[in-house]
Amino acid sequence: EAAIEIQGIEKTYAGGKRALEGVSFDVPRGQIFGLLGPNGAGKSTLINILAGLVNKTAGRASIWGFDIDANPRNAKASIGIVNQEILFDPFFTPFETLENQAGLYGVPKAKRRTMDLLKAVRLEDKANAYARTLSGGMKRRLMVAKALVHAPPVLVLDEPTAGVDIELRQQLWSYVRELNAQGVTVVLTTHYLEEAEELCDRIAIINHGKLIANQPTRALVGMA
Ligand code: ADP
Ligand code: ADP
Repeated sequence: EAAIEIQGIEKTYAGGKRALEGVSFDVPRGQIFGLLGPNGAGKSTLINILAGLVNKTAGRASIWGFDIDANPRNAKASIGIVNQEILFDPFFTPFETLENQAGLYGVPKAKRRTMDLLKAVRLEDKANAYARTLSGGMKRRLMVAKALVHAPPVLVLDEPTAGVDIELRQQLWSYVRELNAQGVTVVLTTHYLEEAEELCDRIAIINHGKLIANQPTRALVGMA
């Protein structure tokens, strides 16, 4: 069974914009999977559908075997999403941010889980600093920790390195590899081909709302 199955997904926004036109693909378990495409291709729309933030117009999707319509709670529990925007209260500390998130998901032993995650993303020293005082890299690591609070088997990163300098990009890449080595299936969207090439086992390309390629990275790069 795949980590994510997407079948015939369509999205037309209220204003009439057709953002996705019959997109179908599977994300195999255990991989780092790249969703590549230019700005406006429909990547965020697809991620937001999986996150339950945008209603699809047609099609089906499941996460870790759970249909997002028939079994939304289990589907949601199986995925963690890191959005492009930095989304946490700047006046909360990293500890409070993660403890609150653990509370939202009903994670048992929230304080213990929070400390473990802070260690995992190397923010233990900043546990009690205000989040607004963190560097850009620290904020991104806190976002990843937040997405992992409920230990989902699938982690989605929406444009993880957009607007990020080379050093931080390398840091994020090695952290993604580390998570994947620990067994997390990773999906990342990017408009940088080099990023997808460097990091991903498999790459799907969407353009103007349509899937135009879906290949192991080696096969795709061989074509170019
Ligand atoms: P949904 O169909 O998922 O409910 P909507 O079509 O209602 O989403 O869009 C949500 C809001 O975002 C609307 O007010 C819409 O006008 C606005 N919006 C319009 N165009 C864009 C765009 N290109 N990017 C982001 N938001 C947009
Ligand atoms: P990407 O993430 O690949 O840049 P998006 O999924 O954000 O692409 O956008 C796909 C298309 O849908 C774009 O044309 C965008 O302007 C449009 N769009 C995105 N969100 C909305 C919205 N809420 N309402 C109307 N149109 C939208």
